[in-house]
Amino acid sequence: MATIKPIDGRSVHQIQSGQVIVDLCSVVKELVENSLDAGATSIDVRFKNQGLDSIEVQDNGDGISPQNYETVALKHYTSKLSSYSDLETLQTFGFRGEALSSLCALSKFSIITCLAADAPKGTKLEFEESGKLKGTSTIAAQKGTTVTVENLFNNLPVRRRELERNIKREWGRVTGVLGQYACIQTGIKFSVSQQAAKGKKTTLFATKGNRTTRDNIVNVFGAKTLAALVPLELTLELEPTAGQGRKLVSKGDDGKTQIRVVGHISRPLSGEGRQTPDRQMFFVNARPCGLPQVSRAFNEVYKTYNASQSPFIFANIELDTHLYDVNVSPDKRTILLHDQTRMLENLKTDLIALFESQEYTVPV
Ligand code: ADP
Ligand code: MG
Repeated sequence: MATIKPIDGRSVHQIQSGQVIVDLCSVVKELVENSLDAGATSIDVRFKNQGLDSIEVQDNGDGISPQNYETVALKHYTSKLSSYSDLETLQTFGFRGEALSSLCALSKFSIITCLAADAPKGTKLEFEESGKLKGTSTIAAQKGTTVTVENLFNNLPVRRRELERNIKREWGRVTGVLGQYACIQTGIKFSVSQQAAKGKKTTLFATKGNRTTRDNIVNVFGAKTLAALVPLELTLELEPTAGQGRKLVSKGDDGKTQIRVVGHISRPLSGEGRQTPDRQMFFVNARPCGLPQVSRAFNEVYKTYNASQSPFIFANIELDTHLYDVNVSPDKRTILLHDQTRMLENLKTDLIALFESQEYTVPV
């Protein structure tokens, strides 16, 4: 019989890291979310060879202070959460303290960071595979942080080959996800550029620190897309149920749970908006996520008005942090919504009412 023994620390680190950073998309998502959590108003994402050579995310956020250099990339070290109960009121994208440590295990990883008071002198941080700080050096920098990920998955040959083989599909997902952050985040300048292996740099899109998601959509998808959209603004009211825990009851005096669904959707008239790209984006309190059942509910209603095309949907579900759980998968894209079945019933009813209203059915 084989002896049962613990897996060595290095292997455990690699096994876990591969679950946090599963593909190119997760790298981009984790880095952009860190920049947003750091209060950045400008985020510049630069790819070389569609990310196969390098991914660089530069922000003008708070920067990292010297006392955190040693711990910044250690597993489960985070400045955002200290106990499990904090999750219920979580305001940041990150909370697991796993992204940077995972990137150390899976790529050539470095950080340049600079506090406002130190500009134009920043510090470059380099790390060991384990996330331990290897060394620091002084370098010219402006306030903020630049994270560079090179040769992603080079030490996981199977995954690297898969990434190279599927780069076209993966690149589509990466630009899609960046478009989602760029559209939902108002007041932030997002810019995304790519440099081919031997080519010149091209900017894919750039937002201008707009005040509305409407203007962001114009910057990312173009004015033509916007012209086919109408505002989506629903307030769902869920009656309290007998078994509902106290914590799940919203603060409204009638005990009703209020959920707002805000964004933009294609006008449901056939012949209208045919140029609309087939894109559907869902957010929970501005956190991009996959919500297959919500998407299905939207499409079901839309189909009864326009069977020939599926809608462009940009929908942010605004609700109390007690009413959902983001800690379902390491990539945080799966979100459990409390009482989803009832919420979807209300959503469908309200959506029908919206589409039936004069303003939405008569072309303007
Ligand atoms: P998490 O985001 O869950 O805390 P990460 O591994 O993504 O875990 O990041 C670890 C810590 O590094 C963060 O808690 C934050 O303090 C710091 N950090 C990461 N990226 C940035 C950034 N762009 N600007 C400032 N601090 C950062
Ligand atoms: Mg993070």
